[in-house]
Amino acid sequence: MTSRVRTGIRVEGIVQGVGFRPFAHALARRFALAGLVGNDARGVFCEIEGDPAAVAGFLAALTREAPPLAMIERVETRELTPTGGTEFDIVPSEEGGDRQALISPDTATCADCLRELFDPADRRYHYPFVNCTNCGPRFSIIRDVPYDRPKTTMADFPLCPACEKEYHDPADRRYHAQPVCCADCGPSLRLTDPAGRPVPSDPIEATIGLLRAGKVVAVKGLGGYHLAADAESEPAVSALRARKHREDKPFAVMVPDLAAAGRLCIVDDTAAEVLTGTRRPILLLPRRPGGVLASAVAPGNRDIGLLLPYTPIHHLLAAALGSPFVLTSGNVSDEPIAYLDGEARDRLASIADYYLTHDRPIHMRTDDSVVRTFRGAELPVRRSRGYAPQPVRLPVPARRPILACGAELKSTFCLARGQHAFVSHHIGDLENAETLHSFTTGIEHLGRLFDIVPATVAHDLHPEYLSSKYARDRAEVEGELKLVGVQHHHAHIASCLADNGVDPAEIGPVIGVALDGTGFGLDGTIWGGEFLLADLTGFTRLGHLDQVPLPGGTAAIRQPWRMALSYLDSVYGDDLPDVAVLGRHVDQWRTVLSVARAGVNSPLTSSAGRLFDAVAALLGVRDTINYEGQAAIEMEQRADPLEAGSYPAGLVDGPPFRVRGGDLVRAVVEDLGRGVEVPTVAARFHNGLGDAVLAGCERIRSAHGVAVVALSGGVFQNVLLLRRCVDRLGAAGFRVLVHGQVPPNDAGISLGQAAVAAVRSLTAG
Ligand code: ZN
Ligand code: ZN
Ligand code: FE
Repeated sequence: MTSRVRTGIRVEGIVQGVGFRPFAHALARRFALAGLVGNDARGVFCEIEGDPAAVAGFLAALTREAPPLAMIERVETRELTPTGGTEFDIVPSEEGGDRQALISPDTATCADCLRELFDPADRRYHYPFVNCTNCGPRFSIIRDVPYDRPKTTMADFPLCPACEKEYHDPADRRYHAQPVCCADCGPSLRLTDPAGRPVPSDPIEATIGLLRAGKVVAVKGLGGYHLAADAESEPAVSALRARKHREDKPFAVMVPDLAAAGRLCIVDDTAAEVLTGTRRPILLLPRRPGGVLASAVAPGNRDIGLLLPYTPIHHLLAAALGSPFVLTSGNVSDEPIAYLDGEARDRLASIADYYLTHDRPIHMRTDDSVVRTFRGAELPVRRSRGYAPQPVRLPVPARRPILACGAELKSTFCLARGQHAFVSHHIGDLENAETLHSFTTGIEHLGRLFDIVPATVAHDLHPEYLSSKYARDRAEVEGELKLVGVQHHHAHIASCLADNGVDPAEIGPVIGVALDGTGFGLDGTIWGGEFLLADLTGFTRLGHLDQVPLPGGTAAIRQPWRMALSYLDSVYGDDLPDVAVLGRHVDQWRTVLSVARAGVNSPLTSSAGRLFDAVAALLGVRDTINYEGQAAIEMEQRADPLEAGSYPAGLVDGPPFRVRGGDLVRAVVEDLGRGVEVPTVAARFHNGLGDAVLAGCERIRSAHGVAVVALSGGVFQNVLLLRRCVDRLGAAGFRVLVHGQVPPNDAGISLGQAAVAAVRSLTAG
């Protein structure tokens, strides 16, 4: 007989609430091993005992066959003294110690649960809250750790005997699935009128009737309320737009399945994978010509944001309706999404005709995530539900716990310790009290969940950002706190490096091309078209777009025609060409110009976003905007992707060298004068900017010998421009880093700040 061995195993990563213990239990049976498994604050601990070959087999299978939602980061083993016995036990959770266990994001309904949902013979047939260890709510219902039912919003739903049996049976799919429930013991769905009075009929059927009748129904989802309307009904979608005060920004559309998605949009393999995966973001896809969607769904856009059902409620609605429906955040214009029941009724009163709601509370508000695809991978636009709070790995571990406060628009924060950077769910534009509250309570909640008490607080250099003020205030109250200010575009590039797991200490500094709308520059001007030589410690500004005045400050951001005027003035001076945009603002432009020339409320900017604005206005694409980045987004949509022509932009010697954006504007004006079509001009502008990015990078490579380029900043949500830059840089022999885990826009800033703070805390000792 071979000798017995006993091995202690510690597994770290996302290993709780994902069926890891029953998995280990089943594995132990398969290899005929005795021992135990349990959860503690760091993850899963396990002891196995038996034949050495079986122990080795168990260890190999442990990572190879791990449950679908598990994300194993580390497995540690140590030898123990055998104790004998034949049983394998699942032992109760241990509290205390460091809270290093990771928490799974909310996850779309799995195939097994879906089968039950539509199986008339199953006891959970049509039950809108069916879930199991492999799927269902997680992050949005967790109040505290360790992750156990009493610490979730399921605490008030004691298990019925049937569910209890499943919950305690290690062979069952629902073993220790904390949100498990059924119609006898779990939450229930109800449809109410605006006064909160229940509508007495089957809630799903009645909701379908309302949607078909053109009504707007507020639907309580995983991380907040949505507003639903029939996507094929022009009056219904237009009414939703008017009531939400959302003029142009596209609405997301939920479709029943992949086939339905394929009828509306062009769905390639990558898109199919993203749409049907466990995270279920809104995916922006090129729409097929024709189509049944109301034009009010996405005015002026050739892309549609599609998503597939991700909760049983959505599946029931989609199956019963059988056609696409708008599913957009339950909020008025720019406020955060409503997630508390009473709050939702108040805030959505002027929008929703009815409420499809339920009694499982949402603890953490999480918006839908939004992604595009680029070269077979995801390009995140908003990273929230389904992704948060899964950590991003920092290239350099944080020696002291870090809080990075992010920027202002599309705000996120980031808590980091060790190798883990927990980038928060989407907070929103940090411009009002409601969003600020969401920001501060979010920091407290994630700090508690991951046991992170920040010793370092990183922030943007913009003194007026509420996130910067929060950092300063916090440092004032907590004297021991170390403040780390990180320049906005340096943070963008650091974010791209961290996103790609690249540590410049190993490969040397990189060329950072940061193109965005607005960021506070070291010289007090507004930056946004920057060529940096950067590592995680610091940066040098080697080049930038030529500066122009921002006539009227923030008014110029809302009114792209002002940027057209500013660029025309910088190119032509007193000899302005006869262009349509001036004709459209004939009563205003002279005043605006004289104010800009006098330098009154007209700060200088090198922003690439504003250059896009100027060209969009010249092209007649958009003179004023209703949401951030609209002019650039619509111009990308108009550009002819097959057009290969390009406009040249000169480089002026520095340091820092300057890219003459005005050259592009001049070429646009000349082509328009020749009657060249808007899609062609828009494409040549994109291509010209791609050429300019390449020229800037080549200049830096020849002077500094650096051949790695990181592309970041909100302008790189523009896939056409991104493709043009990546193609050109790749062909010229550069290694190009683009975003894949966090957005290139300001939602990625907090990760970059955390990475910089981690490195600076190393050097600061
Ligand atoms: Zn499931
Ligand atoms: Zn039950
Ligand atoms: Fe930015």
